[in-house]
Amino acid sequence: DGVANGDGISSKLNGNSIGSKIDTPNVKKRHRRAKSGGLKNVGDGDDSDGYEFMIVSLENKQWHFEAGDSQERDEWINAIEQQILNSLQGNEINKSNKRSTPSDPAGMQAIRTIRGNNSCADCGAPNPDWASINLGTIVCIECSGIHRNLGTHLSRVRSLDLDEWPPDLVRVMMSIGNGIANSVWENSLKNRTKPGPTSPRDEKEKWIRAKYEAKEFLPPPPYLDIALNQQLIDALVREDIRNIILVLGHSRAEDINCPYSKDDGRTALHIAAALGNVVYVQLLLWYNANVKVVDHEGRNALWYARSSGSTECVELLMNNGCPEHPTLPRRRGSSAQAGKNDVFEKLPASVI
Ligand SMILES: [Zn+2]
Repeated sequence: DGVANGDGISSKLNGNSIGSKIDTPNVKKRHRRAKSGGLKNVGDGDDSDGYEFMIVSLENKQWHFEAGDSQERDEWINAIEQQILNSLQGNEINKSNKRSTPSDPAGMQAIRTIRGNNSCADCGAPNPDWASINLGTIVCIECSGIHRNLGTHLSRVRSLDLDEWPPDLVRVMMSIGNGIANSVWENSLKNRTKPGPTSPRDEKEKWIRAKYEAKEFLPPPPYLDIALNQQLIDALVREDIRNIILVLGHSRAEDINCPYSKDDGRTALHIAAALGNVVYVQLLLWYNANVKVVDHEGRNALWYARSSGSTECVELLMNNGCPEHPTLPRRRGSSAQAGKNDVFEKLPASVI
């Protein structure tokens, strides 16, 4: 019963355009009953009415085709599968071209010249080759192994020589460096002695855990009487990378995602995107900034990135799932307050 209409249409596709036709809903196609997933024959095989096959996309869109005989059908299936494969491989190639600059010697050399980067941030070993990208530091191979054990919420390790380095990650590394990072993370050493290059590994591990996990050497935030989210936004606006790192070191996700004030619903991520600063946007994302949060005008970080004209920020936010169309604008304030305002607006002025 594979062919209900029996009108003998066979979809003739140009071999070069099968890939695009598969992606296009308007391809010349015949809609029949959906049977099963994949690219396969859905006819009875030896049905004299014809030979059908269907393409099912990931979104469960379905395209049904009919060939003149089983040989023609199999040729079409082979050709289309080959095109799908080529298309996927092409995407992979494009993606890796765009996203990565493996071991870009100029970028790596530039990172090594940042203040403090000539020795390991944690033990002082010379000429380190490993990076903690979210901390913006360079460390030796032994310390990099300890960093890996901390977990990616504290440290994201990459090799300067072996890993891929998208331009925005190079910029994060160029913006921080061991000098600035240690002025924050080792600010108050409290008579503790930092391990040296030849110190035993467990001594280095104790130091690294005290430094980044227990945050023992991290000074207090710049102001004790101002909310962390406001201090973070102030540091972003002043483009003060040291205080950005310091406040982030104290912040939890709820601080990062907290709007500036009752009247100003912008969060740190909105501000970073409005500044068009891909380094700040990336740091905030690593600290669990929520890409879906909208401000009091219903605008999300992607809207701010677009208005800043920074294609880097736009791409980074989109790659991290920031929606193109944020939810509908809300009224000022929280939804509870908005509801109350609605009630007030419906009451006659004399009652209020
Ligand atoms: Zn080290």
